[in-house]
Amino acid sequence: MRTAIYPGSFDPLTNGHLDVVQRAAKLFDRVVVAVAKNEGKNPLFTQAERLVLVKTAVAHLPNVEADTFDGLLVEYVVEKKAQAIVRGLRAVSDFEFEFQLALMNRKLNENIETIFMMPKDTYTFLSSRIVKEIARLGGDVSSFVTPNVQLALRKKLKPKK
Ligand code: ADP
Repeated sequence: MRTAIYPGSFDPLTNGHLDVVQRAAKLFDRVVVAVAKNEGKNPLFTQAERLVLVKTAVAHLPNVEADTFDGLLVEYVVEKKAQAIVRGLRAVSDFEFEFQLALMNRKLNENIETIFMMPKDTYTFLSSRIVKEIARLGGDVSSFVTPNVQLALRKKLKPKK
């Protein structure tokens, strides 16, 4: 049984993330999308909200599950009996940080491999940050996120009276 962990903030999940999940699901027997707490990043959605959005979006994929984690990623990978970490690479701008992270994780546990997946080209410009910015300004994000995420964004960003 080959298991991969796809960790991230997923604040919120975008179609670019989903593209990576679908590609990983073809390569591994089991893929766990692991929603990090990431309080430091001051997320728009709570970890529990982000988990529900991921769960709903991957429900149709039989070998994909969603979970939360907090703490050291390599420890979580071992706990889940996984062999690999999946990360997405959009452009050169992602490379330096992802390269550092992968090598650091290898230093912490050399038995765990990091695999990079490139999304479909139309998603290479897509990020959670940009989606939040467009949604905040009242723009249409329907081609970037699932209908569920769109609804959640609308609710979250509704002006308070
Ligand atoms: P993190 O805070 O861990 O970077 P993100 O949710 O921003 O969490 O991203 C998780 C992973 O998904 C990262 O490896 C990131 O590069 C990748 N990713 C984000 N957006 C996309 C996209 N549009 N296409 C492919 N990979 C992406």
